[in-house]
Amino acid sequence: MPLGVDTMIDQMKIVRYPHPALRRVAKPLTAIDKTVHLVAGKMIELMNEAKGLGLAGNQVAWPFQMIVLNLNTDPQQEKPEPTVFINPVILEKKGAIEEEEGCLSLPDLYQRVRRAKQVRVQAYNLKGEAVEISAADLPARAWQHEIDHLQGILFIDKLGPIAKLSSRNKLREFEAQFTKAQERGEIPPTAEIEKELDALMAEGGG
Ligand code: ZN
Repeated sequence: MPLGVDTMIDQMKIVRYPHPALRRVAKPLTAIDKTVHLVAGKMIELMNEAKGLGLAGNQVAWPFQMIVLNLNTDPQQEKPEPTVFINPVILEKKGAIEEEEGCLSLPDLYQRVRRAKQVRVQAYNLKGEAVEISAADLPARAWQHEIDHLQGILFIDKLGPIAKLSSRNKLREFEAQFTKAQERGEIPPTAEIEKELDALMAEGGG
């Protein structure tokens, strides 16, 4: 990658719609090296700062299959603890429920989204051990939302016609803010971002 790993991690922040990283299909991780550990730590820090329930690699412009969740994933656990999951896959979905949802990459936009009520997922932890988790309701929603991110899918893609219409102005506002930030030089031009993402993904996660 063009920058040193430490610099890349220092500069990581949560990117906002319509940043191109949000539309990448994240690559599976094939090794859990020092970079993966450092990125995981940074993602937890950014998620906690933003008081989020979850964050996917795409959201820090690191399009690899890693998510962090701030959920009670273990029934023995008393309070939620940020946990890292690598290469997560949904094994099973059950039921359907519509609830309001938001995203750290689209701040202050909340809309109702239909999701499975229950999921069973498989992933790897930072030690490389396979874990299987069953979740329902809010945790199940968070898993589906974050796994969607790894496919380049945002919750705004899943809205019904009315919710879509009522989000339109807010989305245009995000798009205008992004363009303005590019004009001010705070965000590189889109072609440059795409090139950086290509380079990062060509090298693998580490
Ligand atoms: Zn999100």
